[in-house]
Amino acid sequence: MNVPISFEFFPPKTPEGAAKLRLTRQALYAHQPEFCSVTFGAGGSTQAGTFGTVEEILSEGVSAACHFSCVGATKAAVRDQLATLQAMGVKRLVALRGDLPSGYGLGGEFQYASDLVAFIRAETGHAFHIEVAAYPEIHPQAKSAEADLQAFAAKVKAGANSAITQYFFNSDAYFRFVDDVHRLGADVPVVPGIMPITSSTQLLRFSDACGAEIPRWIRLRLQGFGDDTASIKSFGLDVMTDLCDQLCTAGVPGIHFYTMNQAATTSEIIRRLKPA
Ligand code: FAD
Repeated sequence: MNVPISFEFFPPKTPEGAAKLRLTRQALYAHQPEFCSVTFGAGGSTQAGTFGTVEEILSEGVSAACHFSCVGATKAAVRDQLATLQAMGVKRLVALRGDLPSGYGLGGEFQYASDLVAFIRAETGHAFHIEVAAYPEIHPQAKSAEADLQAFAAKVKAGANSAITQYFFNSDAYFRFVDDVHRLGADVPVVPGIMPITSSTQLLRFSDACGAEIPRWIRLRLQGFGDDTASIKSFGLDVMTDLCDQLCTAGVPGIHFYTMNQAATTSEIIRRLKPA
């Protein structure tokens, strides 16, 4: 691939999951990622797992980005966690508001991700490269499309260096988003997030929750394959390779893969995109 790539993992819940993720990482390191990121459970669910996985990646000699969500958090707790991450040698954060698991009250001293970005900058200066989330198809809770663009611009104004998008299948939404935020002066690299397709039920569930639109023709094709996982994977590889090819040809600043802790599909997309 002719652009920098990064990989996203979630923290494993069991020793077996941790062992499998080590193998996944080793397979993906062959593609020389710029960094690997680890997601963060809002409400305390997987924070120890996140920090542990980030530590492992750093010890493997690879740059790690720690996702960091602020919903329900106090400033004192965030300050302590930032100090821990600095002591670990972390240089890159993905700063998020996050979503609280149902059953948690809101509370906390941060309302939006822009509050967290401003706090990190005030507390730690330029110790961290700060990534933020971007939504080419509009965040599901946004008051309007324009309000969501303004919310993104506020994160950049607060000090974000770059952004990673929610996954999408419609590249026009991405290109329009980049044009619009640049028009608002939020002129930072916006790296498209790519979700390899490996299972149709998983994809349909995730997409409904995060507001990513699955085009009708993709949805119907996937439904038509039923339980035929080989056909789903083969179709998914074709669709995602075409999308990445289109994005790379247009000169995107990078590609971020939501690996779902699996190496095979992401590796195959990258292999197919290699210049002959
Ligand atoms: P914000 O940017 O704060 O936006 C949240 C909502 O508030 C939006 O609707 C926005 O329009 C609105 N808004 C923002 N500012 C204002 C304002 N000033 N006035 C009015 N409205 C405003 N979740 C996790 O729990 N853990 C993870 O590790 C994680 N990683 C992610 C990585 C990426 C690349 C992406 C795209 C998402 C990730 N998420 C993760 C999901 C994310 O936490 C959710 O989408 C969450 O609902 C919003 O987080 P945010 O940082 O985008 O919030």
